[in-house]
Amino acid sequence: MKLGFNEATALECKGQSLLADMEMCEKYGFDYIEIRFDCVREYLKEHTLEELADWFKNHHLKPWAYNTLIFFNQRDEAGEKEIDEEVDFILEVSKAIGMKMLITVPSFDVKDKTVSEIKEEAVERLRYLSDKVGKDMKISLEFCGAPNCSINQFGTAYDVVKADRENVGVTVDTFHFHEMCSKLEDLRAADGKKIFAYHLNDCEDLPLGSCGDDKRLWPEEGVVDHAGIASALKEIGFDGVCTIEEFRPEYYEMSHEENVKKAAEVTRSFVQKYFG
Ligand code: ZN
Repeated sequence: MKLGFNEATALECKGQSLLADMEMCEKYGFDYIEIRFDCVREYLKEHTLEELADWFKNHHLKPWAYNTLIFFNQRDEAGEKEIDEEVDFILEVSKAIGMKMLITVPSFDVKDKTVSEIKEEAVERLRYLSDKVGKDMKISLEFCGAPNCSINQFGTAYDVVKADRENVGVTVDTFHFHEMCSKLEDLRAADGKKIFAYHLNDCEDLPLGSCGDDKRLWPEEGVVDHAGIASALKEIGFDGVCTIEEFRPEYYEMSHEENVKKAAEVTRSFVQKYFG
């Protein structure tokens, strides 16, 4: 299992930038970084994609995924055009730096749509996007553990991605998995090859479905059933990248270096404990 860092973890730390994250991730032994859309856009104000590609060529750290193409489903015509434009940008970045995946999240507050209708439309949209990005690039659907998210449980997301298209899979974010009571039996019944990303974090002991991302904790400091999720992932043969992803204001108070160092320590010890 490789170690990944999602840029949300240190996003508001003083001195944070894509380059600062990359340098600290290299220093503390991460294998991969998930690049945020806002961070790469900021980077490109003063640098070029060639410089970014060169940096990755000369370091151990590699780009894992673009995080996040937001609200891919249930959009109107203007919304679908926005998605097309962002995907064009993602493809340009990905081709330049050798990044092979984009993570996408579903829309929120889609009123009066049944789960079947939502699934059907999401399959269509992902087929369209899958053709657009081409076989070389993967699309990972990240269900969000909030009551008003259109795809908010692992089982629903899996139903959408299992349909066809080899380059479409699912992200298992442990906070989201916990928050809307996704079922371990659904995860155990999945094909490990369809799990494209594994986001690691924990959650405060608050009523289910009530937590915002700011209630995320370092892994094993909260109430997420990590033993259950990790053993299910092992059972189905998942062996990818375990990526820390936090959004906690207290962690943004840390110095940038302390934040990334701590993130590396907790991710490494988590992976050692559960995956050996
Ligand atoms: Zn996530």
